[in-house]
Amino acid sequence: MNNFFNYSKDDLTKLFTEAGKNKFLATQIYEWVYQKKVYDIDCFSNVKKENREYLKNNFSFDFIKIEKVEEDTDVKKFLFRLLDGQKIEAVLMYHDYGKSICISSQVGCNMGCRFCESGRLKKVRDLQTFEMVEQIILVSSYIQDRIDSVVIMGIGEPFDNYDNIINFLKVINDPKSLAIGARHITISTCGIVPKIREFADFPLQVNLAISLHAPSDEIRKSIMPIANAYSLKEIMDAVDYYYDKTSRRVTIEYIMLKGINDSEKQANMLADLLHGKNLYVNLIPYNETNNLNFKASDKKQIDIFYDILKRRGIDVTVRRKFGTKISAACGQLRSKEM
Ligand code: SF4
Repeated sequence: MNNFFNYSKDDLTKLFTEAGKNKFLATQIYEWVYQKKVYDIDCFSNVKKENREYLKNNFSFDFIKIEKVEEDTDVKKFLFRLLDGQKIEAVLMYHDYGKSICISSQVGCNMGCRFCESGRLKKVRDLQTFEMVEQIILVSSYIQDRIDSVVIMGIGEPFDNYDNIINFLKVINDPKSLAIGARHITISTCGIVPKIREFADFPLQVNLAISLHAPSDEIRKSIMPIANAYSLKEIMDAVDYYYDKTSRRVTIEYIMLKGINDSEKQANMLADLLHGKNLYVNLIPYNETNNLNFKASDKKQIDIFYDILKRRGIDVTVRRKFGTKISAACGQLRSKEM
């Protein structure tokens, strides 16, 4: 049986119409489920009995489960158990501008970034749309509040699960579902070039972030195996293409790794690479984990790196560090549990 949360309203409408149902049925059910949070089909009181039977025969409302929550002042980290027993995680962060959730898109990840706990544990499978939607619903219900923005930057490479991600974006953006505005959604890729180009055709104004993490192919190859498939030039060409088609400014994510990519020379190399492009750089302080040998750059070194980029005319910020007392690095909680 298909999980209801796999369906965008348009897909449901199409399905219902093909089954000879009223085309407004999809809107009615979306209201029950997403607005009234009622998941028992028998309680859909304004839906005809025969349609309720049809729904019962075709859709399930099975939920993944929150297995563990770790909390710090400005962050909560959730470990989920999926219906097949696999585990994933999501992180809720409290910003001045609202609450944002970072969700997982796969069980494990095949990209193998050397500094990443998720990459240490290989991909088991892609997440279906409902498993991503339910991360948001469950966290929102746990905190009894609305979540303002969504970042797809947890376990997994979203562009390696492209079709489910596109469907997920349609579902959560619908004004009758979770109504997360496209500009409040960010999808982050380690640089799968053909998908960056394909995503340029996606109509919603969703933000795109590229995990670059290095100013040269040589350094990138030493920390990110994906760099063997796509060069920085190919990535920057795809980013230019994306910007030309969408006029949407791409964010460059750059994780600060001590002695690897954080020198003054490397800041200048990064400025050379990004010069003249309408991009925004986010410097990310690294969350050290016991399982990996990478060290976080000193705050002073991050400041020097930041100043060089700023002086060279690059739009740059340093991401606030969340949850130092809990397993805040991506994949750390799952890896600890396993
Ligand atoms: S950083 Fe992202 S793409 Fe790289 S291994 Fe980790 S989850 Fe995968």
